[in-house]
Amino acid sequence: MPASPSAVGGDAYSASGSSLPSPAALDARKRRVTYFYEPSIGDYYYGQGHPMKPHRIRMAHNLVVHYSLHRLMEICRPFPASAADIRRFHSEDYVDFLASVTPQVLAASASASASAVNVAHGGGASHQYESSYARQLRRFNVGEDCPVFEGLFEFCQASAGGSIGAAVKLNRGDADIAINWAGGLHHAKKCEASGFCYVNDIVLGVLELLKFHKRVLYVDIDVHHGDGVEEAFYTTDRVMTVSFHKYGDFFPGTGHIKDVGFGSGKYYALNVPLNDGMDDESFRGLFRPLILKVMEIYQPEAVVLQCGADSLAGDRLGCFNLSVRGHADCLRFLRSFNVPLMVLGGGGYTIRNVARCWCYETAVAVGVEPENKLPYNEYYEYFGPDYTLHIEPKNMENKNSQSDLEKIRNLLLEHLSRLQHVPSVPFQDRPPKTESPEEEDDDMDRRPQCQLWNGVGYDSEQEDVKPCCGDMMENDSADHRKNGSMAVSP
Ligand SMILES: [Zn+2]
Repeated sequence: MPASPSAVGGDAYSASGSSLPSPAALDARKRRVTYFYEPSIGDYYYGQGHPMKPHRIRMAHNLVVHYSLHRLMEICRPFPASAADIRRFHSEDYVDFLASVTPQVLAASASASASAVNVAHGGGASHQYESSYARQLRRFNVGEDCPVFEGLFEFCQASAGGSIGAAVKLNRGDADIAINWAGGLHHAKKCEASGFCYVNDIVLGVLELLKFHKRVLYVDIDVHHGDGVEEAFYTTDRVMTVSFHKYGDFFPGTGHIKDVGFGSGKYYALNVPLNDGMDDESFRGLFRPLILKVMEIYQPEAVVLQCGADSLAGDRLGCFNLSVRGHADCLRFLRSFNVPLMVLGGGGYTIRNVARCWCYETAVAVGVEPENKLPYNEYYEYFGPDYTLHIEPKNMENKNSQSDLEKIRNLLLEHLSRLQHVPSVPFQDRPPKTESPEEEDDDMDRRPQCQLWNGVGYDSEQEDVKPCCGDMMENDSADHRKNGSMAVSP
């Protein structure tokens, strides 16, 4: 084994990477951690003034390397997800659009339109072409929050490739924990972009996990509701989604406490709506008892944790007041259950704190406690004036009163008590093998549409709705997924 990294000390975790005691057993087993990183990820740029900055992933990686955490885990460069991989969740026309749109194509279509308007009264082919392009931008919600930028599709491929690769690693039993900080893009929908997200790498990763695991738990601690993932699995009990988020006059507007799933998925979606100023203690007081109950009752065979860092204190778009330690406590707790764990990024718009948070969470995953003083690194000047790993919460009011929190906890524990213990789901021991390559390109759009609850008739019992993800589990991934990744030097 490699020597303990020089910058890593502390006594809360042994430097040998021993795990935490779990509720089930006092274990001291070292976790095998695989970390996916695409070296070009930091070069993608959403545009001037846009809060989403892929550069933060490179900053986090830089801290990881300067803390020598890379010596304690396997570093993998993800295979880019193919269009066929992405179509396992997203519609064909949306994926075609993402794969073809570029800033140049947009500019060309705009100028073609301008000349067509000058030449004729709107009947020309180029004008029609532009209209169809403009229509597609609107239809797929691409343009403003979700702009067209240079390399957009490659960015999506890297993000999704990391999460699919992470699932393959866990499926093969090659890792206990698989990390992809470029993933966690939870707002993307089957047919449209949303909230800076284009391709839902989480849904794709969960679909891959479902090939080998009967039940998958998804936990989301981004300040925004994990709407895209919840919607994808709203009618199935094979995936349970749990989202902690700010609710009320806040994007995306979904995630009411009474939204609990539908049909076979009823009570397999859990929403924890919160107010501004959530601090470490309040968050922990909800997270630990709720997740403990979920783990006991649902007994997932794999867990996916979305670690959106916009729930940290001082986030440019968020309104919570978590410290890095409080945020990472969620990972620490889930890790203690010794269930295969995928750890993903997400939001996070004060990028120096995002880098701090994801670096510290990488350390928690491998089981070491890094020194608070930051090692010198390429982005050192971002971390002034204190140059520390940890951040202090802000002096702000916690608008979540003790009685509110207690009500939420009790209501959700009551929801959980309505779940049957460990749902037995139809499951084949091995997923069907894809024999012909054509089958991989099976068109999701020709299948029955997902039936999603529209919020009406909350208590009605309509048990005839079929889980919508069942059909999504048939296709096997491309052969290169058998390895899940390419080795890369950090
Ligand atoms: Zn967010």
